[in-house]
Amino acid sequence: MAKVVKFGGSSLASAEQFVKVGNIIKADKARKYVVPSAPGKRYSDDIKVTDMLYACYALAEEGKDFSGKLAEIKARYQEIIDGLKLDLSLEGEFKIIEKSFKEKAGKNYAASRGEFLNGIIMAAYIGYTFIDAAEVIFFDEKGLLDEEKTDRMLGERLAQCDCAVVPGFYGSTPDGKVKTFSRGGSDITGSIVAKAAKVDVYENWTDVSGILIADPRIIKNPEPIEVVTYKELRELAYMGFNVLHEDAIFPVRKQGIPINIKNTNKPEDNGTWIVGSTCQKSKYTVTGIAGKKGFCCVNIEKDMMNSEIGFGRKVLQAFEENGISFEHVPSGIDTLTVFVHQDEFMHKEQKVVAGLHRLAKPDSIEIESDLALIAVVGRGMKNESGTAGRIFSALAHARVNVRMIDQGSSEQNIIIGVANEDFETAIKAIYDIFVLTRL
Ligand code: ASP
Repeated sequence: MAKVVKFGGSSLASAEQFVKVGNIIKADKARKYVVPSAPGKRYSDDIKVTDMLYACYALAEEGKDFSGKLAEIKARYQEIIDGLKLDLSLEGEFKIIEKSFKEKAGKNYAASRGEFLNGIIMAAYIGYTFIDAAEVIFFDEKGLLDEEKTDRMLGERLAQCDCAVVPGFYGSTPDGKVKTFSRGGSDITGSIVAKAAKVDVYENWTDVSGILIADPRIIKNPEPIEVVTYKELRELAYMGFNVLHEDAIFPVRKQGIPINIKNTNKPEDNGTWIVGSTCQKSKYTVTGIAGKKGFCCVNIEKDMMNSEIGFGRKVLQAFEENGISFEHVPSGIDTLTVFVHQDEFMHKEQKVVAGLHRLAKPDSIEIESDLALIAVVGRGMKNESGTAGRIFSALAHARVNVRMIDQGSSEQNIIIGVANEDFETAIKAIYDIFVLTRL
């Protein structure tokens, strides 16, 4: 049995957190490969080391004095080293960083030092081999992950050592420069390491006990999801769930390696399992409820639309020509509605309307704004009758006017459109009916 354990920034923000992480690693021999993030926030208005590095490098790039900001970053690491009573000095590393900043080594290089230095501390603390991610994770000329080379080189390196620390968030380009993934990208590194080492489980440790059924800013203490499939998670992530970086799913998914989201501050909690497929039923009919505000819909009407071949294409072309992606396209006999992001659409609105008239020649066009979309997601829905009925009677009781309904053919989700102002009420009503009252 072997596991990759990735720890997020809040799990490594201080010496105290490092001690918890050390105990977690020691508690299970299978935890052989460790992927650390950079130190995150110690308290709510603290600054993440990654953000400090970006700010520090911005000064260097402008040719300004950055020594004060670099000293603050150094102090963050020194506090951890001292707290852990480690016999370790990062003096040499900081000299190299200072020189590289002066030579304008790039924003990516700057940001990557957060995980690089934390990786050195982690390896020293737990006695694992340190592997610089720039030597084993590779991007191609287009800036995309070079999966084949990474898998081979990383696999070979990991096979040479029993236990290793690979810092998250970065790799290197064909010309030897350091390049980072997008923000939150240490999750991707964890997944890449899990795939290359062919481990049994990828544990992703954070500061919540798993993925919650609904947004805790709307629902007080929502329960965590026990098991979620990759597909369900995609639907929920798209609608705003962001416990895990979206791209972190793909490497492990290819190998059928499950991800277990765990809480560093409550290691005894089961957390959430993210799996390819499962015969385990969700505790409730729905697995999760997510949503987003800020949509607009364009209602297009034309008599005999249903028999006009190519009508849909012409409508969507008007959006495509203006670089606007559509979210949903529910349709009636003589009507077709296109849901788009309001902020994307707003300043191109008249161009799209003109395009629609030119291309599709509709009878009328109507635009509605300030709408929200809610996704009720659950693999169990297709085998249970009455799910839609429960959702809509709950919404009716809460006096929420439903503006759009879309059930995908996968039957994994039902999307509901409501006014922005009804968003929170609607989510509460759906959570109540499925989770609290289980009616
Ligand atoms: N430290 C990076 C960030 O703040 C990457 C990560 O934590 O995953 O985005």
